[in-house]
Amino acid sequence: TFAIEADSITKIYGSGNTEVVAMRDASMQVSKGEVVALLGPSGSGKSTFLTAVGLINSPTSGRITIGGKLGQDGDTAYVNLRSFRRQHLGFIFQKSNLIPFLTATENIQIAMQLNGMSARASKTRAMELLEYLGVGDRGGSFPSMLSGGQQQRVAVARALANRPSVILADEPTAALDGHRGRQVMELFAQVAHEQGAGVIVVTHDHRALDVFDTTYEMEDGKMQKQAPLEQTP
Ligand code: ADP
Ligand code: ADP
Repeated sequence: TFAIEADSITKIYGSGNTEVVAMRDASMQVSKGEVVALLGPSGSGKSTFLTAVGLINSPTSGRITIGGKLGQDGDTAYVNLRSFRRQHLGFIFQKSNLIPFLTATENIQIAMQLNGMSARASKTRAMELLEYLGVGDRGGSFPSMLSGGQQQRVAVARALANRPSVILADEPTAALDGHRGRQVMELFAQVAHEQGAGVIVVTHDHRALDVFDTTYEMEDGKMQKQAPLEQTP
């Protein structure tokens, strides 16, 4: 089974005169352990695709399967969908979306505690993840006290905390310098290969493209798989 399977998904926003076809018949198959880059100009439908795969935004038509398990069922109870997402999906958005009144460590812990992990175990893992991402000394800080790049690293740690089988990232390195950006991309690849996770990263960052196994390009709502990239020296 694939980690992620999107089969001919179409998304139309609005209706009548205001209708916008954001995505037309987009398909993608991501194997376990595969890291996919999704490129394309602004407004081409990348976020629409990612939120559909993340079961946040349901497509107008088409089918999405995560780990061969969940179809795109309109009647899936919201609560179940939420717990499914929490267990299987890790999201990283352009903005870190950290909870402002929780510290960095607590922001990561809450993801694990919602899945039933103890406060103590979740704290240990949260601190390890922060250390691994180079912000081990900022665990007690509130988001407002962190730089954009530091907030982003906390958000990456939070997304990896539950060892998700699918990681979806939308411009995760936008707030990071070249070195940190590359490190985050390499971490995704490492997590994919070690945990067998499927990873999709929307990115404009051409410096780290060699980290990816596969590249897709979105243009005007159409998805196209690219030929393997040449390594640039
Ligand atoms: P990208 O992520 O590549 O910038 P998006 O998926 O955000 O592209 O947008 C694709 C198209 O869908 C754009 O034309 C955008 O204006 C439109 N769109 C996105 N979200 C909405 C929405 N909630 N309502 C109406 N149109 C939308
Ligand atoms: P270092 O590179 O400093 O030796 P490790 O690779 O031992 O660090 O990882 C330190 C912590 O980072 C781990 O305990 C774990 O919490 C997190 N980590 C590292 N690799 C992964 C991974 N593939 N998946 C999830 N978490 C990871």
